[in-house]
Amino acid sequence: MQPFPVPPDEIPVGGVWQRGRGSASRCVDPADGSVVASIHAADSAQVDAAAAAGAAAAADPAWRDLLPHQRARLLCRVADAIEEHASELALLQTRNTGKALAETSALVASAAGTFRYYAAALETLEGELPPRRGPHLTMSVHEPIGVIGAITPWNSPIASDAQKIAPALAAGNAVLLKPAEATPLVSLALARLVHAAGVPAGLLSVLPGPGSVVGDAIARHPRVGKLAFTGGTATGRVLGRIAAERIIPVTMELGGKSPTIVCPDADAESAVAGILYGIFSSTGQSCIAGSRIFLPRAEYSAWSRLLTEGAGALRLGPGTDPSTQVGPLATFAHRDRVAGMVDRARDEGARVLCGGRIPDSPRLAQGAYYLPTLLAGLAVDAKTCQEEIFGPVGVLLPYDDEEDLVAQANATAFGLACGVWTEDYRRALRLAQRVEAGTVWVNTYKQFSISTPFSGVKESGLGSDKGRLAIRSYQRQKSVYLGLAEEPIGWALR
Ligand code: NAP
Repeated sequence: MQPFPVPPDEIPVGGVWQRGRGSASRCVDPADGSVVASIHAADSAQVDAAAAAGAAAAADPAWRDLLPHQRARLLCRVADAIEEHASELALLQTRNTGKALAETSALVASAAGTFRYYAAALETLEGELPPRRGPHLTMSVHEPIGVIGAITPWNSPIASDAQKIAPALAAGNAVLLKPAEATPLVSLALARLVHAAGVPAGLLSVLPGPGSVVGDAIARHPRVGKLAFTGGTATGRVLGRIAAERIIPVTMELGGKSPTIVCPDADAESAVAGILYGIFSSTGQSCIAGSRIFLPRAEYSAWSRLLTEGAGALRLGPGTDPSTQVGPLATFAHRDRVAGMVDRARDEGARVLCGGRIPDSPRLAQGAYYLPTLLAGLAVDAKTCQEEIFGPVGVLLPYDDEEDLVAQANATAFGLACGVWTEDYRRALRLAQRVEAGTVWVNTYKQFSISTPFSGVKESGLGSDKGRLAIRSYQRQKSVYLGLAEEPIGWALR
């Protein structure tokens, strides 16, 4: 394996790299428990300094007056820098999150693509000239908000960071990024590249630390004019309340408990491969994990056997091993939480079809591993079928007909994603319309495109990420009227 330099214990605060003045937090490689780095959190004075520097940098004519194509050029340079450092960034993320290198390499590529995409979108996004309705010309223009508070989770840091930083910078703002306390390393490395690419350093601060302290300070900071959050629904509620009190916009990408639907005519090979990928890739730590697997009751046993055999054959190992399909969970504490939720499923009456425990291989003994697990025998309203586990745990649920299927698929507080496996496009479209979800995949799963908006309905989110119009969600709309009448307004005239 290539040598791994220990990242310095420094964070960028308003353009100056410095030691955080909050508590130190260890970044642990969950594949073997070794400490990768120790990073001090930001304290409230550093949040304050970052916000002040961000506001000043956003208002500085050197940034504010850049034309869209000039800002776009900087974003393209960031994309180039990410691509040049792709293998280091992927390895850093694998060491900090446990994800397989193939996955972290894809996330790094996606981050570069995100910067390039928003550069292109910025250059081509047009303003509006609404039809005239009087002796005036009206323009609808879009201006930067100023300072954006971006808060991201630990499961896919560089990709989720880029999905906020790139459109926010494209829109002309500064960003205060709060990565998850356990996984700040790749976000810090990304900030170095953003600065090195020529983006004024005060425009991006990365402020790691506990969410309830640093995240809270960012959300409440009077200079922060918008919150862009990805994480759990419980935290989303907290941030939504703060945004409501402050009357600032907030976009939220939250949790899920997504249905994956096998129709009677599904192609077995594709469906099994897609379902296993949908629930067990990223070790199930994915907001869009297809964790409720609906099977036609008449063929339930056959599908259940195929899926159980497939899950049992997946290769566990460290993310740095190219043959690994399922890496460790991101932290030991999270592994224990997942194990606890499977124990609770047993108490609810679940049958464990495969997995359901920590692997006993000595090769994996030092890591935060958990076997790919399939559960059966639960009703759709069991806690295990309602709460997000965020681990390698899927529940098999039988259905009788389409009405029963739709009712069960929608019997959840969440509405993030849905998978449908069928050869019948009419049925696919019917289900895509009737299942409450922000994204529906038909005969595929967990595919992403930065040019396609991503959102959740119900308790899975508010607003959208991705797509060219995401730039607009980081701007304020303003209407400008240019009077065209030759005569004064008559009302005040005698
Ligand atoms: P989380 O606990 O909600 O944390 C997400 C981020 O919010 C972290 O940076 C966290 O900091 C911070 N935070 C926590 N409490 C906060 C508070 N009171 N004020 C401000 N910030 C706070 O979620 P997670 O466990 O890291 O991530 C998993 C969740 O994210 C799952 O529910 C998953 O579905 C969701 N997710 C959704 C999407 C999507 O696009 N819909 C994508 C990925 C993940 P700490 O470092 O202290 O935790």
